[in-house]
Amino acid sequence: MSRNERIAYFSMEIGLDTAMPTYSGGLGVLAGDTVRSAADLQVPMVAVALLHRKGYFFQRLDANGWQHEEPALWAVNDFVEEMPERTSVQLEDRVVRLRAWRREVVGHGGYRVPVYLLDSDLPDNSEWDRKLTHYLYGGDAHYRLCQEVVLGIGGLRMLRELGYTHIERFHMNEGHAAFLALELLEEHMQGEGRSYITPEDLEAVRRRCVFTTHTPVPAGHDKFPIDLVIKVLGHKEILTHKTLCESEGVLNMTFLALNLSRYVNGVAKRHAEVAGRMFVQYTIDSITNGVHAATWTARPFQELFDRSIPGWRQDAFSLRHAESLPKQDVWQAHRRAKEWLIQYVNREDNVGMDVDVFTIGYARRAATYKRAGLLFHDIEWLRQIATRTGAMQIVYAGKAHPHDAHGKEIIQSIFHAREALKNVIKIAYLENYDMELGKLMTAGVDVWLNTPQPPLEASGTSGMKAALNGVPSLSVLDGWWIEGCIEGVTGWAIGEDDRHPPEQIDPARDAACLYQKLENVIIPMYYHDRDGFLDIMRHCIAINGSFFNTQRMMQEYVLKAYFR
Ligand SMILES: *Cc1c(COP(=O)(O)O)cnc(C)c1O
Repeated sequence: MSRNERIAYFSMEIGLDTAMPTYSGGLGVLAGDTVRSAADLQVPMVAVALLHRKGYFFQRLDANGWQHEEPALWAVNDFVEEMPERTSVQLEDRVVRLRAWRREVVGHGGYRVPVYLLDSDLPDNSEWDRKLTHYLYGGDAHYRLCQEVVLGIGGLRMLRELGYTHIERFHMNEGHAAFLALELLEEHMQGEGRSYITPEDLEAVRRRCVFTTHTPVPAGHDKFPIDLVIKVLGHKEILTHKTLCESEGVLNMTFLALNLSRYVNGVAKRHAEVAGRMFVQYTIDSITNGVHAATWTARPFQELFDRSIPGWRQDAFSLRHAESLPKQDVWQAHRRAKEWLIQYVNREDNVGMDVDVFTIGYARRAATYKRAGLLFHDIEWLRQIATRTGAMQIVYAGKAHPHDAHGKEIIQSIFHAREALKNVIKIAYLENYDMELGKLMTAGVDVWLNTPQPPLEASGTSGMKAALNGVPSLSVLDGWWIEGCIEGVTGWAIGEDDRHPPEQIDPARDAACLYQKLENVIIPMYYHDRDGFLDIMRHCIAINGSFFNTQRMMQEYVLKAYFR
């Protein structure tokens, strides 16, 4: 059977359903939202990722705030359907067999985008190979390399096996998928009946490839010793092309993708500039991320939009009419979303939070550059704000990577701050931040806080989810917020956008800005100028919700990357 999809989207992680632990954070949620919008817009796309039977991990925090990880267990066949086709990849001297599981993502008009999740857990394979598609971001460099071979090379072979012969564009979502380009090159050379690479071969692959880079953080760019790559993949001419992928004995997956893609983009305007300085020989465009509006809008706001802005599910641009929503309706929808969150927090953490109290939300991967603890930089100052200006409560969530001891210490430091502030500010740290909790939190707090170290936040998307639910952001100017922040209209900035160049690292300065905004502007407005606060809430939906969504994003990919 021949299938007609024309775009193939490859991603190491993908957030299809909150209960499928095939994602760890923003990259996977974005992949899921991309596919959801492709289905809405009837973009002829097929997506490929790994099955991740043991997920990223299940998080437990002990009484001291120390993180413990367990495999995330899930019933695969409750969510996906096994395909009869098989394919294989060669790893060292072994042939590793692969199968695929399918899940269809259905758009508003009923259009379906198939997603295939690759699985090496087959009885023919060795014990070690069977585990290759178990853990997302688990294991050592060797394990990761083999996983990326499964995704890129195995993924393309599986698509061919499944009958996808008309694919015109291959989209690599981050460098994890870059072996896809290598396999396309191999296919092309076989077609030409040649075993050496010509510039025309490279150009033929380039014409078909699109690459999105997602982070300026060096650890986010996979690098493997070239000896290890040759051990796993065998001697391939391309691997020794110094200008293409290798620097000083290292295969850099980002360079491989950059060199073999015709169109490359960063995920926000500022990120594209930063990436352009990291990779000066390349042209890096920008397509700012978004979120899938219907997925991330809480039910009370869905009902309000359905009544007042019909058609918003098909056309997120129409959310601009939120400007004229009756204020009492916006407040009522927000109250309901907030009640759900506060009930959840009290059930989980027994903190006795109060729906009438000003509530700050913060949820992110506990990575160092995200600076989760900035709010507690000066505990005394924060205590004084809560006693003098107005009561506040704070909801936290987020996982640290299992190997990231510093990330785990960050979580623990929030437990310590909670203890230090216990009679003044109620603070909860919720376990197992996932899509469902993300939705509950971004809709249910009064202000969404973000404090990354510029310029390391490529985009960030949780603040966009908040905006759809009328929740303003209070954030450092980095990533999407440089584009989304209109001071006092859609939210508030922490500090100025004045760090380029040189980058200044001064947590005390940022913390002071944060406290001053809370003390002088936000908390007084929340308690004493509800009307003004509701103006901001409506602007969030109308100005930012209508733009920072994956419908607009997908339209940009179609125009700039897929069909050009
Ligand atoms: C939206 C989301 C993210 C990404 O948000 P950031 O602002 O980039 O941190 C990460 N994890 C989950 C579970 C999410 O829902």
